[in-house]
Amino acid sequence: MGELLRVEGLKKHFTKGRQTLKAVDGITFDIRRGECLGLVGESGSGKSTAARAILRLHEPTAGKVTFEGKDFLKMDGPQLREMRRQMQIVFQDPFSSLVPHWSAGANIIEPLRVHKIGTQQEREEEVLRLMELVGLNTKAIGTFPHEFSGGQQQRIGIARALALKPKFLVCDEPVSALDVSIQAQILNLLQSLQEELGLTYLFIAHNLGVVEHISHRVAVMYLGQIMELAETEELFHHTLHPYSQALMSAVPRIDVDQKRERIHLSGEIPSPLNPPSGCSFHPRCPVARPECKAERPVLRDVGSGHWVACHLV
Ligand code: SF4
Repeated sequence: MGELLRVEGLKKHFTKGRQTLKAVDGITFDIRRGECLGLVGESGSGKSTAARAILRLHEPTAGKVTFEGKDFLKMDGPQLREMRRQMQIVFQDPFSSLVPHWSAGANIIEPLRVHKIGTQQEREEEVLRLMELVGLNTKAIGTFPHEFSGGQQQRIGIARALALKPKFLVCDEPVSALDVSIQAQILNLLQSLQEELGLTYLFIAHNLGVVEHISHRVAVMYLGQIMELAETEELFHHTLHPYSQALMSAVPRIDVDQKRERIHLSGEIPSPLNPPSGCSFHPRCPVARPECKAERPVLRDVGSGHWVACHLV
């Protein structure tokens, strides 16, 4: 699998008056073609802001995003518009991401209309094809979003995201607002669409079970930085970073061999307005040392593509 997307030293800071909120503070990773990279972390870790900065929904403060070898952040005009077609997003709350007074068909057709793709008849045919692709009854083309269940609304959101035939999809907590019984159906749909259409995903979630199910590799974020990144099985079975270990210990396991002692972290995630010095995890880390307070650990490959940012590893 070759690389589709590369993110280097990406930062997104929000400045208000004299205060600077470092929501994303220098993240680096790549996503291979056809891969699903999971991005996990507590709420407030910067996952969604990172995704929005990659897509330039929030213009990044610093860093580089390369898509198919081209510098995405330097693009403008028609080149940017064309590149944006390739990169789409599925949102967490399907209902609020749809236009409520437009029918399902009108919501799905919108990107085709905006990008002036096809004739009206071709667009309508494409909407029917997309509805079938995501498992929606085409007879519901004139139905309004509030008349659908949450799972069906998310299927509309996915159909709309696929309308421009993108190569890369950011899935921002796409199942966390849905009933547990529906979550598996949407995950399976996203998985089969990935295989069928050769899509590449950045999949954001706080639920580790969901990420383990769908991702080829997983990155763990804390206070705007990546703490650990590895193949999914490697990360879940040979967890190296103390923060990831605490997250993993909270995942219920049926397999007795895989059960871990629960690690309880003290305190809340600190404010990105005033992040701790050195390793940002040091105030909560159960094995922190004096040097952790002074020096920020660098994310480095400790072997076989397993990346960790910790002085002790
Ligand atoms: Fe804990 Fe220090 Fe490693 Fe940070 S660098 S995770 S504080 S041991």
